[in-house]
Amino acid sequence: MKREYINPFSARGNWYRGNVHAHTTISDGTKSPEELVKLYKEAGYDFLSITDHSVVAKVGHLASRDFLLIPGEEICVGKSTAGTLYHIVALNIDDTLPFEDFDYGLNPQKVIDKINELGGTVISAHPFWSGLNHHDMMKINGYHGVEIYNTSCDFERNTGLSDSHIDGIIAAGRKPFIYAIDDHHGAEMGNAPLDACVAWINVKAEKLTRESIMASINKGLFYASNGPEIKDISIDDEGVISVKCSPVRYISFVSTPSLGFKFHAMGEPLTSAKYPGRPGETYVRVEIEDFDGRRAWSSPIYNIG
Ligand SMILES: [Zn+2]
Ligand SMILES: [Zn+2]
Repeated sequence: MKREYINPFSARGNWYRGNVHAHTTISDGTKSPEELVKLYKEAGYDFLSITDHSVVAKVGHLASRDFLLIPGEEICVGKSTAGTLYHIVALNIDDTLPFEDFDYGLNPQKVIDKINELGGTVISAHPFWSGLNHHDMMKINGYHGVEIYNTSCDFERNTGLSDSHIDGIIAAGRKPFIYAIDDHHGAEMGNAPLDACVAWINVKAEKLTRESIMASINKGLFYASNGPEIKDISIDDEGVISVKCSPVRYISFVSTPSLGFKFHAMGEPLTSAKYPGRPGETYVRVEIEDFDGRRAWSSPIYNIG
C-alpha cells in the first residue's frame, strides 16, 4: 500500500510548541496580551498567536528571542445549516481584515479567499461548538486545517472535540491538517479550569522565526496534542505504519467509515503500535489517549494506491 504523509517526525529541525488561537482584553478575553505572553512562556510554549475577534492585535513588542508571536485574527461570518456563524481563524496576517464581524450575510468563502490572498493561513475553528456539520464545511474551500480540539469549547460547553467533523470531510475527499488549540478567553463561569496552556501544536521547524514556523505549519509539519507525546510515525515500503509514543491507554488508527483499528492497553500501557492498513481505506490518522483522557492527533496519512 502506497501512502502519502507530510511527516514532521522525519523532517529536519527542532520541535516548537505553540498555541495559535487565543483572545485577550483587546476583544473578549480576560487577560492582557502581556499576561497571556507571560503565562504561555512560563508554561514552556515557544510561540503564540493572539487571534482577537475582528482585530489583529499589535503585540509584536512582546516577542523575545525565545518567544515568538504570530499575528492573527478571528472573524465570525456566514450561516450554517443550523443558522450559526462560521468562525474563521486567520494566522500570519499583519492587518485587520476588511470585513464586519458577525455578518450572517457574508459568504465565509470571501473571507477565506481574502486571507489566502494576503498570504495568511486559514483554520476552520471549533466546528462542533459552532454547530457546523460536515456538509457546511464542504461548502467552503481553501482552509488549511480544522481544530480537532478546542480547550475553551471543551471546558465551557463540552463541545471541544470535532473529530467526527474532520473525518466527515476527509471521507468526502478533503485534506485538512489537524490543529489543537486553546482558544483562551479566561474562565467564564468560575467553575472551569483556566483555558490556557492546555492544548498545542508541536511544529518541526528549522528555527523559531515567524518565517520558519509558518513555513512548517503551511507544509503541515506538526501534530496536535493536549497531553501525550507522539515520538515517531514511520511508514515502511509495504505501507505499514509504526507509531511510538508516551505511555497511553490506546493507539488508534482512525480511517474511512467502518474501517481503521484501535489498539488497547491490556495491562501494560502502550508505547508503540504497528498497523498495516485494511482494504478499502483511503486515509488513516493516528490518535492516542493517555490514562487521564488527554489525546494527541496526527494529521491524516493518505492511501495513494
Ligand atoms: Zn470562535
Ligand atoms: Zn476564538
